[in-house]
Amino acid sequence: MLIPIYLSIPRYIMLNNTMFSVNQIRQEFPLLQKQFCFFGGKKGSVVYFDNAATTQKPKQVIDAMVAYYEEENANVHRSLYTLGEIATRKYEQSRKIIAKFLGAKEKEIVFTRGTTESINLVASTWGKRFLSSGQTILLSEIEHHSNLIPWQMLAKEKNLQLKFLPLGENGALDIQNIESFLQDNVGLIAITHASNVLGSISPVEKIISVAHQKKIPVLLDGAQSVPHIGVDVQKLDCDFLAFSGHKICGPTGIGVLYAKEKWLQEMPPYQGGGDMIASVWLDRAIYNEIPFKWEAGTPNIAGAIGLACSIDYVSSLGMENIHTHEKSLTQYAISRLKDIKGLKIFGTNQERVGLVSFCLEGIHPHDMAQFLDSRGIAVRAGHHCAQPLMRKLGIPATIRASFYFYNTIEEVDFFIQSLQEAKEFF
Ligand code: PLP
Repeated sequence: MLIPIYLSIPRYIMLNNTMFSVNQIRQEFPLLQKQFCFFGGKKGSVVYFDNAATTQKPKQVIDAMVAYYEEENANVHRSLYTLGEIATRKYEQSRKIIAKFLGAKEKEIVFTRGTTESINLVASTWGKRFLSSGQTILLSEIEHHSNLIPWQMLAKEKNLQLKFLPLGENGALDIQNIESFLQDNVGLIAITHASNVLGSISPVEKIISVAHQKKIPVLLDGAQSVPHIGVDVQKLDCDFLAFSGHKICGPTGIGVLYAKEKWLQEMPPYQGGGDMIASVWLDRAIYNEIPFKWEAGTPNIAGAIGLACSIDYVSSLGMENIHTHEKSLTQYAISRLKDIKGLKIFGTNQERVGLVSFCLEGIHPHDMAQFLDSRGIAVRAGHHCAQPLMRKLGIPATIRASFYFYNTIEEVDFFIQSLQEAKEFF
């Protein structure tokens, strides 16, 4: 007898030799328990498939932030009283947890507002100091605007060229001709580690190795990789890595820039103000040591504490387990999507994170997203902040379903059933 593919996919993940249930994990996410009234009147819980945009938060993360405000709230650094010491310890402990998660040194972790600010920080500081007129920044055709616009702005200001690694057939980067790109006085390679549209994981090991042979630094946009496959910056040997807290079960408004110590020692400051200084005179200042030199003003203390808690949370599940679960869901979703007539999937690379983008003939992605919402399914439809990629694909928008470790096969089944109903509806 033929066993349907989905029955062969485990609904439980092995964790430290004990089984844990996705359904149990879901209990820890208050929003996933909430009953909504969706457009059109349907009542029920949400099928949340917009995790590439932002993830839901477990109670532990919410509680950690509430506990800070209820029990530990004080400003950090330079506090000469107990409460201030507690807040500072918590804030710096968060940096330590994040450093360990990435395999970095504590002083290489700079708190920012998120991926976008981290990349802007590198462009505005490292880029201004280390890139000079006539040099090239090598990006790719699949970048999120966050890893494109800061470089466009810098290129205009400093008379730099931008070049782009092309999109390959299956939605991964085509790096066959990377050596020829590197002939052009490249000063930096800045690429996405995982595409937020196509799901493809970029061959960053190879890119970094080739780049470093020519002493070219590499920045990775880790917005879609850090939460889903984890990143070890020492193993990868990237020079910079940016990611956002809210995409890894943490709060909004907090993110991280990892930068190699050797670069941080040389980079000028980003913003000026309190905390980033050691001594100030009316006409000059000595800046603080790394990483504080890039954290001007009162930082997002609760955000850092929440982010560290979310990192502890995903670490306790295991990044490999998370990736395995997402891969199963995605493979299953793709296998079922392929059966829908008129449906085209964008990005078929095997090495991928847990998302799938597609279009359905005759139905605009925005209409489809609204239809799915009426069934209680949250997906994203649009250009996903990657308009150049959309132009390359020759489409204005896609529907994107993006998964996380709390999503289930049953949710995917309901999603597929709803797509089929949509075909009849439109
Ligand atoms: N880069 C990629 C690949 C993304 O998917 C996103 C967000 O979707 C970003 C950068 C920007 O992240 P944020 O808005 O949190 O700064």
